[in-house]
Amino acid sequence: MSLSDRLFGAPPSLSQMLPEAEQLLLAHEGDLLPVTFVRHARSRRASLRVDPARRRVVLTAPLRMSRAIAVGFAESQIGWIATRLQHLPARRPFVDGADLPLQGIPHRIRHRPEARGTVWLEEGAINVAGRAEHLPRRLRDWLGSEMRRQVTPLVQEKANRIDRPVKRIAVRDGRSRWGSCGRDGGLSFSWRLILAPPEVLDYLVAHEVAHLVHMNHGPRFWALAESLCAGPMAVPHAWLKANGETLLQYGA
Ligand SMILES: [Zn+2]
Repeated sequence: MSLSDRLFGAPPSLSQMLPEAEQLLLAHEGDLLPVTFVRHARSRRASLRVDPARRRVVLTAPLRMSRAIAVGFAESQIGWIATRLQHLPARRPFVDGADLPLQGIPHRIRHRPEARGTVWLEEGAINVAGRAEHLPRRLRDWLGSEMRRQVTPLVQEKANRIDRPVKRIAVRDGRSRWGSCGRDGGLSFSWRLILAPPEVLDYLVAHEVAHLVHMNHGPRFWALAESLCAGPMAVPHAWLKANGETLLQYGA
């Protein structure tokens, strides 16, 4: 399953997972590789996947599978685990001089300790005032409010087109989903979408607004989502597939 499918689909609810994950360290060529071991009520066999948002490899096993069998499966795939850990996307922390796209346009983070104010844009730079240790939080808060400023009229315009009320729009630090639509008609979106090109946000908004009518991913849902989307859905879909993992690394 691709990352974008996983982010759109209903992820396994936390209640279906046993509370604590176990951190395994598996020996490989003189190294100890970390693997997070979880059990899941719906899993039928042991499986491995990469969780790029949390930069880890996860081993999932059915509730009743013996630990030794599950761990043995991971050990049999140790070469794959080593390769995937090596190729995790680079972290992109919020620090002075780092690059940060804003609606897909490259910007540079500039720490301005001497300046008054908070965060402001200026010729390709995102300036952040205040003390260095507050920079990540200040920037993150600003990106969240920029996201809210962009997404709110977009949601309202699409919801008006299908005559559905939107109860609430939340901007979250979504690491398992880009967006969601609650049964109560509340929509939520990851603040990270403010980093993506505008057509990607448009596409995600079309998707979640279409869920106000169809709470599934059936053909009628997709037809409505397509009609609410400003352009062909294939373009932003492909963009997310190629860049979604990178988006998850910003501010990490
Ligand atoms: Zn959906």
